[in-house]
Amino acid sequence: LPSLSSDSSLVALDIGGTLIKLVYFEGGQLNFEKFETRRLDQCLDFIRSKKLLSGSGIEARLANAHAMIKASGGGAYKFADVFKEKLGVSLDKLDEMDSVVAGANFLLKKIPGESFTYMDGKRVPVNINQEKLFPYLLVNIGSGVSMIKVTGNNKYERVTGTHIGGGTIFGLAKLLTGCSRYDEFLKLSQQGDNLVLDLIVKDICGELVCEKQGLSASTLASSFGKVITSKRMLSDYKPEDLATTLLSAFTYNIAQVSFLVASLLKLKQVYFGGSYIRGHASTMDNISYAINYWSKGQMQAIFLRHEGFLGALGAFMSYRS
Ligand code: ADP
Repeated sequence: LPSLSSDSSLVALDIGGTLIKLVYFEGGQLNFEKFETRRLDQCLDFIRSKKLLSGSGIEARLANAHAMIKASGGGAYKFADVFKEKLGVSLDKLDEMDSVVAGANFLLKKIPGESFTYMDGKRVPVNINQEKLFPYLLVNIGSGVSMIKVTGNNKYERVTGTHIGGGTIFGLAKLLTGCSRYDEFLKLSQQGDNLVLDLIVKDICGELVCEKQGLSASTLASSFGKVITSKRMLSDYKPEDLATTLLSAFTYNIAQVSFLVASLLKLKQVYFGGSYIRGHASTMDNISYAINYWSKGQMQAIFLRHEGFLGALGAFMSYRS
């Protein structure tokens, strides 16, 4: 950690397309908060109320004139003027990928019990052999998805990414299910039945034929595929069934792309981060299942307890340098 006395406070930010992540040091420990980016004012109020900058009012604004908050993410550029105007503070803008990788490496090297696998509803802690930590693939699922090959401290390459990410899924969920909060969407998805909308192998070739061809009858053949042949309108579907199908369709897809990228790069370890995961059981189940299925058991999906805060933590660590 940056050398801090237990009474000092320090804050770093990661301002993304959907969420602002905030890491701050208070009471001798690191604390984590997030806010919706569209509610930037709540974040500013929080920083004020926690006195994460010295005091408030005009004097403080003058005192803060030379103060800098380390900040990563595109919003560090977009909202720099707002921070200057409302808090009198400048944002020290950091490269987003540098921060995400620094945050992930910090967690994997320094925080015991940070990483775990998730299979059949069970979290199993992963003991990381520090000698074998690198190389790994980091898949950060935020509004969009970044895939980064990490080969050491500050050594990485952003290999690729996909625009089909958390923003896509939650955006579609809002339109299709009418939900307004992300946790509401996750809750809905737990109560639904994907077989109402998804086409599985059995629906196409019948159970017996599938077995003959060595295909599992329950394998997903086409997400939302049943809708095509149905007379039902959108309003005839239950929001919870739509939510379940949405979540699994895109989560499997992101996991499959991750598997393909890891295979091309010959990487066996794939770590998943980003707020999309949200510690949600079926999201992690789907990712683990897909990675295991496509790699025939040769790769494992590993999750991080502080999944959403990689960039903010990396920004925080940069006070050291
Ligand atoms: P970004 O840095 O692009 O904002 P994040 O890693 O913060 O990305 O992840 C944003 C995604 O996380 C959203 O697109 C959504 O899928 C999911 N998410 C998790 N919690 C929330 C929330 N409270 N509000 C909106 N989206 C959320």
